[in-house]
Amino acid sequence: MVTGGAGFLGSHLCEKLLGMGNEVLCVDNYFTGRKANIIHLLDNKNFEVLRHDITVPLSVEVDEIYNLACPASPIQYRYDPVQTTKTSVHGAINMLDIATRHDIKILQASTSEVYGDPRVNPQAESYWGNVNPIGPRSCYDEGKRCAETLFFDYYRQYGVKIKVARIFNTYGPTMLPDDGRVISNFIVQALLNEPITIYGKGSQSRSFCYVNDMVRGLILLMGSEDDCTGPVNLGNPHEITMLELANRIIQITASDSKLVYKPLPTDDPLQRRPDITLAETILKWHPQVNLDDGLNSTINYFKTIVLDTE
Ligand code: NAD
Ligand code: UDP
Repeated sequence: MVTGGAGFLGSHLCEKLLGMGNEVLCVDNYFTGRKANIIHLLDNKNFEVLRHDITVPLSVEVDEIYNLACPASPIQYRYDPVQTTKTSVHGAINMLDIATRHDIKILQASTSEVYGDPRVNPQAESYWGNVNPIGPRSCYDEGKRCAETLFFDYYRQYGVKIKVARIFNTYGPTMLPDDGRVISNFIVQALLNEPITIYGKGSQSRSFCYVNDMVRGLILLMGSEDDCTGPVNLGNPHEITMLELANRIIQITASDSKLVYKPLPTDDPLQRRPDITLAETILKWHPQVNLDDGLNSTINYFKTIVLDTE
């Protein structure tokens, strides 16, 4: 079962799992997901879809759960912050209850946001983070932190086989053009020759992982030994400022776009780069797609959406 299977990461994961010969149940309430993301999978006899909100208990027999359901873009998780926290917390409880009942493995899509605005760079799993508990990002950050707490309490209390992946910024084809994340915003703006919106001075950094690398990492983590609970960072350690990213996208797309500066959102982390030593050691995982290659394939995808060319 893949919760959030109609979302950006979830749909790529469903596709990969089906390609590996698995039967996949995609569970989604279509808050930020799209039927269009999974429509090409519907003919596959091993694929099933269930419209369901994971904040509501579910009775289903499956043998592995990837729990990805949760809006991930700041504008989307801030749209209904109470529901965002419920999705992380009530959703985790409901999915962990299924895992407990059936004695199966469950993987949580956690996030680099558990490190908040980090005071150390790069971030290793041992870092406890610097998170504002009451700010506009807290519904997501603290919801995901509480979900991690629940996963480890179900592990210690009930012996549930948990896997916690701390996912760093991931991008690629099928991201929504209007979901507000930086890669989709910059590419769409560049393709339309519109101003590129830099928040703050653009000196804040992120490290972007291509979606195929991330999906491979998640599947490797699920297949790891039972004592490999994580949390494990998954991300690409190549760190870049938002100003550098904007200029790179302008260059690749040969765009006439100019930069415009907008206020930095509250609690926007200044830096983010994963220390992936643990994933390299225990999963033998390392990202393979460099930023230029990943941007090129993402830009080609957005050309078909935004410029309506095939
Ligand atoms: P997304 O918004 O594209 O996908 C989330 C999916 O969850 C959507 O299909 C949405 O409809 C579904 N969903 C939301 N609330 C639900 C609910 N209550 N019940 C059922 N379905 C629900 O986001 P994404 O980028 O694919 O992220 C997937 C997961 O990975 C999320 O849990 C996110 O926190 C995590 N993550 C993603 C990134 C990233 O950069 N993409 C980074 C860190 C963590
Ligand atoms: N950002 C930006 N312009 C945009 C969208 C985002 O400068 O049009 C910045 C944002 O302030 C943040 C970074 O890009 O510093 C990454 O933002 P995103 O929302 O993609 O992810 P997150 O903040 O959750 O890492």
